[in-house]
Amino acid sequence: MIDLMNDINEVASRQGEVGTGNSDFMPYKESIGEGGVIIAKLDDLLNWSRLSSLFPMTFGLACCAIEFMSTGSTPYDMDRFGMAPRASPRQADVMIVAGTVTFKMADRIRRLYEQMAEPRYVISMGSCSNCGGPYWQHGYHVVKGVDRIIPVDVYVPGCPPRPEALLGGILKLHDKIRGESILHQPGSGT
Ligand code: SF4
Repeated sequence: MIDLMNDINEVASRQGEVGTGNSDFMPYKESIGEGGVIIAKLDDLLNWSRLSSLFPMTFGLACCAIEFMSTGSTPYDMDRFGMAPRASPRQADVMIVAGTVTFKMADRIRRLYEQMAEPRYVISMGSCSNCGGPYWQHGYHVVKGVDRIIPVDVYVPGCPPRPEALLGGILKLHDKIRGESILHQPGSGT
């Protein structure tokens, strides 16, 4: 399916060449056949739809959350990846841990994670969340990495990471989802 999408993208990018006499140009309609039928693996379709509609929880812990908010602003436009922030963990499938994880917040974070819809993912954003950040040595009140309380799928380095870095982390998460199989889960016997 990815090959097919690449073909479609290539054809779409060449639409501007219509009428230039380029004999290699093949209209989109011809590339998918007269019937408009696309054949793809169900896993690929499911993964494509899932990674194109991730719902992050509106959730922030410290200064990194400002960069998370900036990522949703017009110049960075997180929405173009189909991401719609949700105010409830029950409607979210991505937690972006943006900020310092204190011991006081740790059990709240764990509870929010457990309330999220499955399959769910976690992006650890910034040094504090990754490893304790500037508090790693003397911060008696700081958890030295959010992966000590919940599983993390992608780590975004920086203090704070810029919005571009968070977008890079989101694309890494897309890569991970693209390689998953909803139909053949480990231990499901399918
Ligand atoms: S990593 Fe830096 S910017 Fe992010 S929450 Fe920690 S101190 Fe703030």
